[in-house]
Amino acid sequence: MDKQQYAITAQNQYCAQNYAPLEVVLTHGKGIWLWDIQGKRYLDMMSAYSAVSHGHCHPQLIAAMTNQAKQLCVTSRAFYNDKLGPFLKKLCELTQLDMALPMNTGAEAVETAIKAARRWGYRHKHIPANQAEIIVASNNFHGRTLTVTSFATEAEYKKDYGPFTPGFKVIPFGEVAALKKAITPNTCAFLVEPMQGEAGVQIPPSQWLKQCAELCQQHKVLLLLDEIQTGLGRTGKLFAYQHANIQPDGVMLGKALGGGILPVSAFIARKEVMEVFDPGSHGSTFGGNPLASAVGLAALEQLEREALTKNSAVLGAYLLKSLHALNYSFIQAIRGKGLWIGIDIDPQKISARAVCEVLMAHGILSKEAHHTVIRLAPPLIIQRKEIDWAIEQLQQAFDKIEQALSSVV
Ligand SMILES: *Cc1c(COP(=O)(O)O)cnc(C)c1O
Repeated sequence: MDKQQYAITAQNQYCAQNYAPLEVVLTHGKGIWLWDIQGKRYLDMMSAYSAVSHGHCHPQLIAAMTNQAKQLCVTSRAFYNDKLGPFLKKLCELTQLDMALPMNTGAEAVETAIKAARRWGYRHKHIPANQAEIIVASNNFHGRTLTVTSFATEAEYKKDYGPFTPGFKVIPFGEVAALKKAITPNTCAFLVEPMQGEAGVQIPPSQWLKQCAELCQQHKVLLLLDEIQTGLGRTGKLFAYQHANIQPDGVMLGKALGGGILPVSAFIARKEVMEVFDPGSHGSTFGGNPLASAVGLAALEQLEREALTKNSAVLGAYLLKSLHALNYSFIQAIRGKGLWIGIDIDPQKISARAVCEVLMAHGILSKEAHHTVIRLAPPLIIQRKEIDWAIEQLQQAFDKIEQALSSVV
């Protein structure tokens, strides 16, 4: 058995089958590029669901990590460390919020936001005990813990996992009137992605978020934005909510916050919201550890130093415009913000996964979202000439698919 077959066979035998990976075995990465076990090079258009916005093995981030790793890695929050304060100060400055609670994964940051919102509702809005409601949007994706799964609307996320956590109300994404109708005196928060990632790069009407922010303010409801995928430059602004010119009460960050190296997440909020936490009320063994804090701070600084948000806006617009110029029968729609683009594939013609397999043969790695959408989300360090190369490969791959489709009929 060759090395590739061995890796695939071993993983299939010993790893739970909760993913359906493409048949490529990756062994190393540098910048926007990945190499497989046979030495073939690919452009990473997936970026680990936007966790790798800085590119693979970024030299400054690896340096920040190794320097810190030699100094001190994990101490727990039982003690102070010299890296956590500066990291969270930077996060608060960037979000214009007051305090942060460090966690590791995105789902944990969302769980933290939910706990904060409920406590805030009981203590500041005087909601009767155990009656707090949180409004969420349909087709949401906020992670995989059981409470978060409780308010998912995707059947495959939920099947046979019940009983679920109560206290959530689902409204259609992108509809202000639905939010207005759903708010009751027991509503403590509206928890939402400013643009939906796993639902297939869904971009709401331009006035929606601003109107939601106004409604939340009128009714004393916290606006809590999950920017775990959209944040840190992905959509061409540092945070996707900046497209709407609003200020949320709380923000969840993760993914790219770890610089493509470590899991680092945080819930960042106004002081009044964060002050509901007191010693013993919430925690995480690894959250806020010195190694994660050093990498997180370096990731934020590097984002600014390389002007990655601006690059995302400029090259994202360029990529989107180039894609709009293409015309294929199996592509139904193309949309995007920054370097974050969704291509709707007509499932009657071909599956999105099959398209991803053809792209892979042409040196482009991507993975379908929501079964029918191809997501293009390269590292934000990508250059124009590399985008041009990608467009050429996409075009060749799409031509091949179109030819195959027309010969079938
Ligand atoms: C990926 C993601 C999460 C969950 O992050 P994990 O680190 O996988 O727990 C939550 N919300 C959004 C919007 C995401 O894209």
